[in-house]
Amino acid sequence: MATDSFIPAPTTPGGRNLLLQELRETLERARLGGFFYPMATGLGFLVTSRVYVVPALAVTGLFTLLALARLALRVSANAGGSEIRRQLLRIWSLILLTTFSWGAFSAWSFLELPEPAPLVAVLFSGAFGMALAHSMCMRRIPCAVAIASVMLPSGLLLWRFVAPGVAIMWLVYASYMMLVLLRSYREYRTRLELEEDLRRQRDLFEKQSLDDSLTGIANRRAFTEALSRALARARRGGKASLLILDIDHFKRINDSFGHSAGDACLVAMARRLQDLFDQPGDVVARLGGEEFGVVLDAPEDVALGRAEVFRKALESEALAFADNRSVVTVSIGCGEFDPARHADADALYLEVDAALYRSKLSGRNRTERAQSGAAPMPAGIAPAG
Ligand code: GH3
Ligand code: MG
Ligand code: MG
Repeated sequence: MATDSFIPAPTTPGGRNLLLQELRETLERARLGGFFYPMATGLGFLVTSRVYVVPALAVTGLFTLLALARLALRVSANAGGSEIRRQLLRIWSLILLTTFSWGAFSAWSFLELPEPAPLVAVLFSGAFGMALAHSMCMRRIPCAVAIASVMLPSGLLLWRFVAPGVAIMWLVYASYMMLVLLRSYREYRTRLELEEDLRRQRDLFEKQSLDDSLTGIANRRAFTEALSRALARARRGGKASLLILDIDHFKRINDSFGHSAGDACLVAMARRLQDLFDQPGDVVARLGGEEFGVVLDAPEDVALGRAEVFRKALESEALAFADNRSVVTVSIGCGEFDPARHADADALYLEVDAALYRSKLSGRNRTERAQSGAAPMPAGIAPAG
């Protein structure tokens, strides 16, 4: 059976997730169910008055091998769509091989084994059919074929050796199983899609909680996490620096062009920052208002050099936003994490914030280095401009 005709290839990431969950659940349920077959054949042989050593070993051994083969199938969380589909095809092939073998065994027990072995086989056929309808309902057609393969041979033999009425009752029972399968299938698919919706929503909320809603870059929460990660790396021997950038006289942009143009200016500024700070380890975030932060895996001199490149490029080329063009400048504070001096991220932040404050006081459009033990920027006091 070609994989494509059995399971169509997923066309969306959501489709791949659904298939992966289906594979996990199919494997989990099939693994457990597989061992009931050797148990049933073993019991069938045990209850007979005669001893059938070779057939008992051969048949029970075959079903044990089929059950073990189910255990050997693995599922990897990183598997691609085609690998997942191949594994699904393999597990269903094993299930069908088991149910066809069971059908053959139950027919053979009617023909060859003394009572009550055929009765045991019939009882187990009914139990397997119903178990398949309930628990292997992820795929309708292979499951219906599996149910038919365990139910039909016993049905025919009941007709031949017991009574047509009993066989008809057996057929009604098998039809009921098919109805159960259809209902279980619908419930299973609904649950699967509901869980995928919940996963999608959770991922969306997670992303929204880390993105700045105006500019789409990292927000303060994501910045705080990135800074902690950078500091942890620096404690293990790396380098971590922080830039805090504040747009100069941003209020004037709002006053001259309007608040929504001011918004567009913030978006344009975020793009500029992302274009320049695009090296591995760089994290650009909007900290709030017209203030941005950049975390870099670099020593202070490198960070300062890159901050100056950015600042000079910004002052030399007017920023375009919402049909406007205006030269926009920034003041920058820059500092490197020093584990001997900074107890935590807040200590570094305060020093860099104080450096930013000094660059405002010194006339704006400049970059200042952080100084050890620098006084924090006084709250609510804006430097004259
Ligand atoms: P300075 O050079 O001292 O930083 O002057 P400034 O005008 O940039 O700073 P100030 O703190 O006086 O004003 C910041 C302005 O930024 C005031 C506020 O209305 C505006 N602002 C804050 N957040 C937003 C926003 O999301 N969108 C827009 N359009 N304006 C904002
Ligand atoms: Mg400002
Ligand atoms: Mg500000």
